Amino acid sequence: MSPTVKNWDQEVDVIAVGSGGSGLTAAILAHDNGAKALILERSDKVGGTTAVSGGGLWIPMNHVMAENGIEDSREEALSYCKRLTSGRAEDDMVETFVDTGHKLVRYLADNTEVEFELSGTPDYRAEEEGAKLGGRTLGQQFFEKKQLGEWEDKLRPSPLMFVPLKIDEALKGIANPRSVPVDKIVDRMSKGMVGSGNALIGRLLKSCLDRGIEIKLEARARQLIVEDGRVIGLRVEADGRDVFIRAKGGVVLACAGFEWNEKMRSQFLPGPLSHHCSPPYNEGDGLTMASEVGADLANMSEAWVYPGFCIPGEEHEDLPVSRWVIGERTLPHTIMVNRQGQRFVNEGVNYNDISKALYYFDPNTFDFRNLPCWCILDSQYREKYMLLTVMPRDPDPDWLIKADSLSELAEMVGIDPDGLEATVARWNSLVEQGEDTDFGRGTGGYERWIGDADAPHPNLGPIDKPPYYALQLDAHSAGTKGGPRTNTRGQVLNVRGDVIPGLYAAGNVMAGVSGPGYYGGGGTIGLGMTWGYISGINAAEEAKA
Ligand SMILES: Cc1cc2nc3c(=O)[nH]c(=O)nc-3n(C[C@H](O)[C@H](O)[C@H](O)COP(=O)(O)OP(=O)(O)OC[C@H]3O[C@@H](n4cnc5c(N)ncnc54)[C@H](O)[C@@H]3O)c2cc1C
Repeated sequence: MSPTVKNWDQEVDVIAVGSGGSGLTAAILAHDNGAKALILERSDKVGGTTAVSGGGLWIPMNHVMAENGIEDSREEALSYCKRLTSGRAEDDMVETFVDTGHKLVRYLADNTEVEFELSGTPDYRAEEEGAKLGGRTLGQQFFEKKQLGEWEDKLRPSPLMFVPLKIDEALKGIANPRSVPVDKIVDRMSKGMVGSGNALIGRLLKSCLDRGIEIKLEARARQLIVEDGRVIGLRVEADGRDVFIRAKGGVVLACAGFEWNEKMRSQFLPGPLSHHCSPPYNEGDGLTMASEVGADLANMSEAWVYPGFCIPGEEHEDLPVSRWVIGERTLPHTIMVNRQGQRFVNEGVNYNDISKALYYFDPNTFDFRNLPCWCILDSQYREKYMLLTVMPRDPDPDWLIKADSLSELAEMVGIDPDGLEATVARWNSLVEQGEDTDFGRGTGGYERWIGDADAPHPNLGPIDKPPYYALQLDAHSAGTKGGPRTNTRGQVLNVRGDVIPGLYAAGNVMAGVSGPGYYGGGGTIGLGMTWGYISGINAAEEAKA
């Protein structure tokens, strides 16, 4: 039951709950459309998952690609997006994304500190109709942290992206670790430059500060206040007490998903998630608050899942650091196998899609057949490529399991030895014939781009030079993508499909517009900030009414 509030502690026009990319964008747009905006952030740092991310945005028909001579069209973008959304979001939502995302990019480029640059990343399913081999993913120019003044130390640091690298540099660096000279990186660091998600959030935060938008840290939104069916404010935990804040135009939920809420995970997700790379504050508060006022929830079984690994002993803020396993499954001289020692998927596909194979449920054993699974690689991989934090030819770390024979390796980690030997023999014969006729590895534009351009084949290479290595993979997540359903104006809908007046949602908190799919690098932040843009404008309009 929503409490009746007689004395408000504060009154504003629009509240953005959460200081990730979606929340900051909503606040900027609300402000620029005449509203008094307030940002609430439950942690003591700004930026959420967006700050620790690669900071890429996937936006079709953006002006940066056009300026670089890459053509795109509404028809192509719609055809591609609808295919990947697979009917799990309304067509008008997908159309709104395609029609609005490029306006967001233009707006931020023209009116804020945000400075986009082209990334060469191909769309994740580059073979689908309407896909592009690059241009829709936008990176962020480096940002000088000291521009934030006293807010500099409030920018959430990233456990993974702490070296100032562009998205392409980071991804291509797995195959070619010395592609960015060390002195270049040292120079960037000495100038206090941050890249990736820190650059994006740094630039958005600076834009908020320049506008005088208030940001309350350590302020956790807990309950929506409703009067006559309209959301009119929030109960917030701050300064050790309940604070009541009124929002004349609307509350924009931008407080991400529920990956850190064990109960919600087991209620909604199709399989286990052992670790997350988002900061540990996304506990589904937005879903709880929206459900309490009757919101319709959708896309709840979907999350941004990836095969991940935690290096023993590596911690950030007392939590294990979840590392994405990308090159280690995509480059030559490596495959992924399950307990039976069998391959089960094209290892090179994007992380979101490969996770569907991780969650394959075997009715015979009543168990997830491919969890855990292992990357199996050999000394040729170790000689050439990065393996998580380990440089080629550096000594093998203690945590990397190795053996002189495949059967010994299999015994050590609990894989069927005969299965593994047979699978590796089969893999080597496929490599020799130059084509993975079993799973199509190396056929996709994205995996070829991320592969080793200097190798005989960017993704195929034999596993035949001991020692052999095994890296156990589990399902990890960067966030969930189910939540309150919204309309094309960002307004949250109730279970009857009617608008809940005064309530908006943007980002991972809302029912994901891409359904089960992932359009391309930047597909989560691109969608989230687009709905931040839409919600900010519309909530500001409501405040004027
Ligand atoms: C290493 C890494 C790399 C990635 N790279 C990319 C990439 O390049 N491109 C891409 O598109 N995606 C990427 N992702 C995923 C992406 O970062 C997230 O999907 C996205 O940032 C989510 O944005 P958001 O605004 O919805 O939420 P967040 O950025 O997580 O922000 C939500 C904020 O809400 C706060 N909050 C939670 N509950 C409350 C409450 N009750 N009251 C107040 N505040 C609250 C949280 O503390 C948090 O600060 C990456 C993720 C990681 C970890």
